[in-house]
Amino acid sequence: LIPAAIESLIVQFARFPGVGRRSAERLAFDLLAAPESRRGELIGALESLGQVGLCPTCGYFTQDGDCTLCCAERDPSVLLVVEKTTDVVAVEKAGAYKGQYHVLGGHLSPLKGITPDRLHIQALLDRASDQCVREVILATSASVEGDATAIYLTGHMRRPGLLISRFGRGMPVGGSLELTDAGTLRLALEGRRGVDL
Ligand SMILES: [Zn+2]
Repeated sequence: LIPAAIESLIVQFARFPGVGRRSAERLAFDLLAAPESRRGELIGALESLGQVGLCPTCGYFTQDGDCTLCCAERDPSVLLVVEKTTDVVAVEKAGAYKGQYHVLGGHLSPLKGITPDRLHIQALLDRASDQCVREVILATSASVEGDATAIYLTGHMRRPGLLISRFGRGMPVGGSLELTDAGTLRLALEGRRGVDL
């Protein structure tokens, strides 16, 4: 009943998290009913994603090779380690952190074949070995894999003069930073504790 061209658009929309078939249909029909200029704007926005990459230093998004985090005037003595690029957005929204970030791109999970070489870990070890870094805050997820990742990183980063801390309590178990409200994130940051191994 639905023409193939529209159906394929519905299928694309339905791939997004939280978007079911019915919502996808609404989006597709809304776009069809909208002025043609809006389709052009959507196509333009999608095409400009081609300028987006990942920073080889911190693992956050770059545009045309420029990283807004590494270029910014942020405190170079503190590194906050998160799993996902969206975690950076969540912590920035909370507005309580002024140091540098490092995005791992996930957490260790040997059962799923996610070994240290599959994550952005070597770059982190290189950064953490820089003497100007005084503290590394591990904000990997409050899950078995997130904890295992934090333990692995601690074991490889330890050196005199470097404080390694873990996000404080209050983070929902298994929950990701991006789904945590700003107040809880601020408390977790303030309540961070040194990791002793
Ligand atoms: Zn960067």
